[in-house]
Amino acid sequence: MILDGKKIAAEIRGELRAQIEALQAAGKRVPKLAIVIVGENPASVTYVNNKMKACAEVGIEAVKIAYPVEITEQTLLSEVHKLNNDPSIDGFIVQLPLPDHICETTIMCAIDRRKDVDGLTPENVGRTVQGLPSIISATPRGIRELLARYQIATEGKHVVVIGRSNIVGKPMAILLMQRPYLSLPGMSAASLGDATVTICHSKTRDLTAICRTADIIIVAAGSPGLLTAEMVKEGATVIDVGINRVNGKLVGDVDFEHVAPKAAYISPVPGGVGPMTIVSLLQNTLQAYHEHTR
Ligand code: NAD
Repeated sequence: MILDGKKIAAEIRGELRAQIEALQAAGKRVPKLAIVIVGENPASVTYVNNKMKACAEVGIEAVKIAYPVEITEQTLLSEVHKLNNDPSIDGFIVQLPLPDHICETTIMCAIDRRKDVDGLTPENVGRTVQGLPSIISATPRGIRELLARYQIATEGKHVVVIGRSNIVGKPMAILLMQRPYLSLPGMSAASLGDATVTICHSKTRDLTAICRTADIIIVAAGSPGLLTAEMVKEGATVIDVGINRVNGKLVGDVDFEHVAPKAAYISPVPGGVGPMTIVSLLQNTLQAYHEHTR
């Protein structure tokens, strides 16, 4: 079965729209998100436009703040501080990647964790690790939601996560291994967490043997065709996070054509994890708004 991220994301946007309309009906202001973009990297421009569009669809006010590629790290830092202190802004993101002369870690560390709707600050990641209320990195949050909406329980399952990045692999592994904290905002009813997780990366030996023991495989490597049919157990669930452009076509990290017939569930690229990531940003923004206006 195809895990239709596009359809689920549309469903969630409908739910968010209803919640925001209810705020307006109660005479409250709507949530406000700022999106900072540096330079004109074409992929980033597309992502930012898609995020702006998604905000408009649910009634979140979004402002784009664009800086030229030459902006200094110091100036960008002071802009981050301004957004931290702007009471009209509930949350903001700094679109990555940043130009080479700006240290992404320095910028991420400067964002107030309560406004960090990408969930990338060390505070939010640390709180997620400890199971404390936090803003969860958008892609893992979206994948968790996708699994939940398809009632794919993770309890006791062996999940293999390929990729150890701070934005996908690491937080994904943490969410899956955690005891479910049902009081956390955004936690869906299905049993999520309580999995046995193996994290694999570019130095992992015999990836095939490890993957063949997995009930669920989440691939976030940025390597087209990495996950082949021989690596997948019959009836496994496969989540493809990769976004690669091959001959002008968007493809994931999974050899979809040959893996799909073996998988019980599989997410496509495009139309799987991508739309879920954007909708998670909207959910995180509403979460930050509620914290901010409490
Ligand atoms: P990254 O690009 O920072 O790192 C890739 C990771 O994959 C590394 O940890 C590396 O060790 C591992 N890896 C690479 N090749 C491997 C191999 N052959 N075998 C095993 N491990 C290997 O990771 P990222 O930022 O998480 O991005 C990964 C992919 O996911 C990219 O294609 C990116 O565009 C995509 N992505 C998609 C979304 C979405 O919303 N769909 C969000 C974030 C990232």
